[in-house]
Amino acid sequence: MGRTSRIEGFYKMGMAERIRIVKEFAELTPEEAMALTGFGGLNPDIPDKMIENAVGSFPVPLGIAVNFTINGKDYLIPMAIEEPSVVAAASNSAKMAREKGGFWTSSTAPVMIGQIQITGVKDPNRAKHVLLERKHEILDLANKQDPVLVKVGGGAKDLGVRIIHTLHGPSVIVHIHVDVRDAMGANAVNTMAEAVAPMVEEMTGGRVYLRILSNLATHRLARARAIWPKEALGGDEVVNGVIEAYVFADADPYRCATHNKGIMNGIDAVMLATGNDTRAIEAGAHAYAAMSGSYKPLTTFEKTPEGDLVGTIELPMAVGLIGGATKVHPTARACIKLLGVKTAQELGEVAAAVGLAQNLAALRALATVGIQKGHMSLHARNIAASAGCPPELIDEVVRVMIAEKKIRMDRAQEIVQELTREKSKQSKMG
Ligand code: NAD
Repeated sequence: MGRTSRIEGFYKMGMAERIRIVKEFAELTPEEAMALTGFGGLNPDIPDKMIENAVGSFPVPLGIAVNFTINGKDYLIPMAIEEPSVVAAASNSAKMAREKGGFWTSSTAPVMIGQIQITGVKDPNRAKHVLLERKHEILDLANKQDPVLVKVGGGAKDLGVRIIHTLHGPSVIVHIHVDVRDAMGANAVNTMAEAVAPMVEEMTGGRVYLRILSNLATHRLARARAIWPKEALGGDEVVNGVIEAYVFADADPYRCATHNKGIMNGIDAVMLATGNDTRAIEAGAHAYAAMSGSYKPLTTFEKTPEGDLVGTIELPMAVGLIGGATKVHPTARACIKLLGVKTAQELGEVAAAVGLAQNLAALRALATVGIQKGHMSLHARNIAASAGCPPELIDEVVRVMIAEKKIRMDRAQEIVQELTREKSKQSKMG
């Protein structure tokens, strides 16, 4: 039997026990396990090599989502996120989906788009045809910029031309389609777009301004689907409630923004843990959600003939295992090893499955007890800590605030005062 991500009571264990299990699951070295714990932080040289004006690093909690089966393979999923409930929700959703085989995924080839903006073209339709007739010259020049990418099977593969109508009249936009294999691809694509710009100007007689990757990666999509048995979800009413929540998001951009934010809770957390560019993923996801002209959910939910709930997700997934922070950051490297993903495409599919799981968990909570119940205990803990509650009183302050359903900083401070008065009274009496 292969390794299992179904780990009973993982949430009740101490951090040391959890790290022991994770280390064993992925056969991590002691250094890799240490990198996951974050103790000691980044080697002081690393931030200074990553960004400008560095003064240090900013730790974010790293949790492990359990129970995921994706295409028949079990994964432990690292999630870096400051928000309570997200890791628990993903794990719970994955546990319910296991009964029907977990998640099934697919993706397109890792093709990114580089845009070249040509202005001042008098005859845009002629220019479009010239560019298409001579596309091989452009693609050849683009590929000369990155022999390493070409050698691993990637490179500029195709070219498209659009005529768009701008405030300044028509503009001819070239799209070079670059298979970036296991890179996120921004640097690779930008280099190619810049290199071919003079050739494009010469072919069209226009003036090139922008030469840059598009984050709307419509040729680089990841998809996932899963079935949640109605019994596991809590019955017919819950299935109907989740579908009603989806229908609401589909009809209303105010709701849809929050629906898609819930999806991105999961995806961004995996992206951050693996050193990927969360802003690129966010930009692509929301632009894709608005592709039809109105802003839509990235997921769908419907009922199977048996009355179970089936969910699907599709979104652009510009993720990398090479380049960016993925190779430089020791925690990101350890997270990638823990995931055991072999290609950027596989990482993208895993992230899509996590996004779907996250969305189902949020919609189920909204359709039943509401979202606050799950958030309550960690939220109360954060409020108590922000209110300056001494560590030895936090458990008691949290208990009282939850019992009273008053999770507020002013109340936390009052409880601290009450408990302190009580304690000093007792010690005087004793
Ligand atoms: P990169 O340039 O660091 O690495 C990619 C290069 O690695 C390829 O060009 C290729 O030469 C080489 N390579 C070796 N083996 C490879 C393999 N198996 N698959 C693919 N390439 C291989 O990285 P990148 O992905 O081009 O750039 C990512 C960075 O760019 C991220 O840090 C991102 O934040 C940043 N960025 C993003 C944007 C944006 O999203 N709009 C814009 C600019 C920069």
